[in-house]
Amino acid sequence: MLPVEFVDTMQQQLGAQAPLLFRALEEQPVTSIRLNDKIDELSFNADIDEVPWHYEGYYLSERPQFTLDPLLHAGCYYVQEASSMLIQCALEQYVPEDGLVLDLCAAPGGKATLISQYLGNQGLLVANEVVRQRVFILSENIQKWGNGNTVVTHNAPSLFSEAMPNAFDCILVDAPCSGEGMFRKDEQAIADWSMRTVRTCVERQRSILDDVWDALKPGGIMIYSTCTFNRHECEENAMWIAEELGADILPLNMDESWGVVESIAGYHCYPHLVRGEGFYMCVLRKRRREFAPFRIRHAKKPNSTPITAENEQLVRSWLYQPDNWALRQLDRFITAYPIRHKEIIDYMSTRFLCISLGFGLAEERGKHFAPQHSLAMSKAARVDAFPQLELDLENALAYLRTEALPIPNLPLGLLLVTYHGVPLGFVKNVGARCNNLYPNEWRIRNL
Ligand code: SAM
Repeated sequence: MLPVEFVDTMQQQLGAQAPLLFRALEEQPVTSIRLNDKIDELSFNADIDEVPWHYEGYYLSERPQFTLDPLLHAGCYYVQEASSMLIQCALEQYVPEDGLVLDLCAAPGGKATLISQYLGNQGLLVANEVVRQRVFILSENIQKWGNGNTVVTHNAPSLFSEAMPNAFDCILVDAPCSGEGMFRKDEQAIADWSMRTVRTCVERQRSILDDVWDALKPGGIMIYSTCTFNRHECEENAMWIAEELGADILPLNMDESWGVVESIAGYHCYPHLVRGEGFYMCVLRKRRREFAPFRIRHAKKPNSTPITAENEQLVRSWLYQPDNWALRQLDRFITAYPIRHKEIIDYMSTRFLCISLGFGLAEERGKHFAPQHSLAMSKAARVDAFPQLELDLENALAYLRTEALPIPNLPLGLLLVTYHGVPLGFVKNVGARCNNLYPNEWRIRNL
């Protein structure tokens, strides 16, 4: 049952359209995925249909048991609600591909992996999550996506304004909201909803926006989005940004056939008009004015342990374009991150709580270096640097549950495990058994 006050609010907002929305909220949610360029085709049979606003987005006619598909765990696609892929339009229209982008409220990482893909090997993404329990799944999804162009941070929004004023070309605030757009996906969203929650959300959203505003360059792009319908958390906040913080609301080119509704400020996806869930987005440009561009001053040297030339040569031999990556060793771990963003990443690692940056390349084990799991997930990995062990579905799932594998007729030592040719991780063939090196915290449980 929809909350009475929600029904009243929507009737005022949508008039004759409101009953169509209520009916749509009783239907089954739509299933969609966004493909990574790690694969050309899916490993399971499904009737698929293209999401019109994202070239890698697909609707599935049925929801498969995604956990049972090893390619999900290999980061070959992300199960993402179709409406939220609309931020691609904002990126393509207003954000340079070599830009510095902050995704402030990023967990679990649907939009962050989309932005990472958009920025490719040119731009840099900072994906932040303030809630501790959620930051690790964000980091996991970023590692699995494999672009290496992302720093995952766990900080309060105000630190970005303080430590990086006027730095970002684009900030996405995909704000925590009252979640009306999730009503048909999540019963709990209905139970948690009240007008009081809406008011609390508005206050929180404004405080987040205010706190991060100084980190956006004048002339830079703010993408404000929610998965809710009410105008308090949507249009009123967008107009508040424009008037109080100082920005201009920008139009987006969208095809009428998509069913996205343009309002007085921003765009709504209503599930009775769009093939997707409820979503709202407004794109604003911070007003231009004289400003001091962000410069790194008095940067502390990031902690690191020297890497010997021999070890560096070894670990770089695992990379396709080794010169594109800066390396840093901390304790036993060597991390690789884009050399073109070295200065800013080094600086960030002294001021922010960085959960991951770039990707984990190698780990010191005794006198040797072994690859880290995230190297297997990375698109920068030279897969032919390791002997490969292709698994069938049953053994791939056993591997992902961190179970023992049959001993292969392959050389002793590290083997790169693949499924449909895509790396899943490493095992160590010690002859008598094959040690499973899949990260324990990522293993599939309950199967
Ligand atoms: N962008 C994500 C995605 O596409 O997967 C979804 C983000 S979700 C709508 C909002 C996020 O904001 C949650 O991860 C939540 O933990 C975080 N959050 C909650 N309170 C916050 C606050 N006060 N400041 C910043 N982020 C907050």
